[in-house]
Amino acid sequence: MINGKTRLLCLLGSPVEHSFSPTMHNASFQKLDINARYLAFDVHPNTLKQAVEGLRALQFIGANVTIPHKVNVMQYVDVLDPKAAMIGACNTLVHKNDKIYGYNTDVSGFIESFKQINFEFKNKKIAILGTGGAAKAVLVGFLCEGVETIHLFSRTLEKSQELADSIEDYDNIYPMTYDALNTACNYDVVVNTTPLGMHPNEGKTVVNPTNIGYKDTVFYDLIYNPEETEFLRLARLSNRRTMNGLDMLIYQGLDALQLWFDFDKEKWTREDVLKVLKDSNII
Ligand code: NAP
Repeated sequence: MINGKTRLLCLLGSPVEHSFSPTMHNASFQKLDINARYLAFDVHPNTLKQAVEGLRALQFIGANVTIPHKVNVMQYVDVLDPKAAMIGACNTLVHKNDKIYGYNTDVSGFIESFKQINFEFKNKKIAILGTGGAAKAVLVGFLCEGVETIHLFSRTLEKSQELADSIEDYDNIYPMTYDALNTACNYDVVVNTTPLGMHPNEGKTVVNPTNIGYKDTVFYDLIYNPEETEFLRLARLSNRRTMNGLDMLIYQGLDALQLWFDFDKEKWTREDVLKVLKDSNII
């Protein structure tokens, strides 16, 4: 029931109509008996500052931030988490004691999805395909977990070099182009962060995974719709381990929820979120 004690949270982005976040978070509030509601606001870049100040003025508990505001919103937060600063993008805001704190749960969500398969990060060799915002979150996540080396693949050396240069104080990041990807590359993980495989590029893959890696290589695609991209299908057919982006999606939401409410993780789990997303035909 909405009453005088009901508190608000929201998504700030544009467009926002497609977002699963209101469905997922409102279901979690109900299950966890939290008197709050989550709405999606379509915010124009010119009014982002006022939108963030509005969170403070109206005593919002927090917000998620999505395209196109993940970078620009950083200038309006009072305290930026080091991982969000390293990525240069922020997707979760927490309002506490009149301060706005900024975090990036894309990184923690990605890493959490690996922890679920008991993945050991030390001494691992990683290949990241693509150099956009998602690639940077994946890169920072792996660096923070202490992997051995990371090769960044792009269609142009300038772009992979640019991504490598955007991270300071690490000497284990190597910019590459796709022609360097061959059978000799024994990566432990190969992550597709390009949109190839997703609508309108279903059936396409940026590389053929068949001849890359070894029998234990994990092939990870950030795409979750379709459930199995061409990249993952080919990897599966050559008997490799595959993971899609669904758990990253779920864990970034659970991590944001944890930042806002510090809830009991036993009471609202990955399986609960999965059920909500399925019941709502989101996946
Ligand atoms: P993006 O910036 O549009 O693209 C990422 C990179 O892919 C580009 O920088 C580009 O790198 C490469 N690329 C783009 N089009 C290509 C093409 N036709 N052929 C080959 N390479 C191409 O996207 P993003 O925001 O980083 O997101 C990437 C993907 O991750 C999307 O599919 C998104 O839905 C998904 N994602 C999933 C989650 C999750 O929770 N599971 C979270 C975030 C993002 P180069 O120019 O260097 O080649």
